[in-house]
Amino acid sequence: MKTKTTKKSAKKTAPRKTAKKKTAKRKTPAKKSSSRRAVKKTSAPRKLLLAAEPLPFRIENASGAAQALVLCDHASFRVPRALKDMGLKKNVLKRHIGWDIGAEDAALHIARAFGAPAVIAQYSRLVVDLNRGPHYRECMPETSDHVKIPANADLNKKDREQRLAEIYRPYHKAAARVIDRQIAAKRPPLILSIHSMTPRMDGVSRPWHMSLLWNREAKLARCVAQALRRARPDILVGENEPYTLTGERFVGSTIWRHTEERGLPYLLVEFRQDLVDTRQKAAAWAEVFIKAVRPVLDDPETFAGRKIKPKGK
Ligand SMILES: [Zn+2]
Repeated sequence: MKTKTTKKSAKKTAPRKTAKKKTAKRKTPAKKSSSRRAVKKTSAPRKLLLAAEPLPFRIENASGAAQALVLCDHASFRVPRALKDMGLKKNVLKRHIGWDIGAEDAALHIARAFGAPAVIAQYSRLVVDLNRGPHYRECMPETSDHVKIPANADLNKKDREQRLAEIYRPYHKAAARVIDRQIAAKRPPLILSIHSMTPRMDGVSRPWHMSLLWNREAKLARCVAQALRRARPDILVGENEPYTLTGERFVGSTIWRHTEERGLPYLLVEFRQDLVDTRQKAAAWAEVFIKAVRPVLDDPETFAGRKIKPKGK
């Protein structure tokens, strides 16, 4: 989700050299660069990601044996060098429009606590939003929270396809492969999709400390929401707030693609950004979530009676 931050609280995604990751070959089909248009800052270069730049994803805890998988679509505000910070100032990129502040720290804490693998995105949602269907305009937004994104103005088909080919599809294929392996090992996972939300959007406050969102998995999400309230009567837990996963906008999203299309259980959580904007705070709120999720993860009923597709895409 979109989150507000201050310069002080914004942190870079861990650089590639510090990441424990399972490598995957970057797919960068040779493409001819589009014609250079003087007014446009980001005509598609031959290759979007240079050899020295991170892969579109990294996998933490790859050998984690838990029956769970953590996904973090909006973990980073990194932009490929070729896109020149999307035509934005760095401090704008680090605002909530560029990434989900605190989500990566929460996701990693959750993955470690459960012993689950985690697929972490390594580029900004402004380059390509991994949590949108590829055909939606919002997948490469021209504006975000009233900020115009110069590098996304008038994108042609080639520009769009390049971002899909080099970032979007490799990320989702990586997630699908991890899930395939878990299913093959008789551990079909509970998908934990970790996001953070701005405390205020379009002048409207978001009072929830965290919120659970769903389309069809109401029973699971409500069970965890109730557990959160029992454990922490002092906090507000949202249910399908500040938005819902239902409707056409949901089609093509991460949850749609990797869970409901495959018959897998899931929880999508939005932590309120001001509560998770340091590693310590993110860990503390992740702990609250973990305690509420653990009984669900340990309950065979969570996985019972599902028709699960063995291969994803
Ligand atoms: Zn998000």
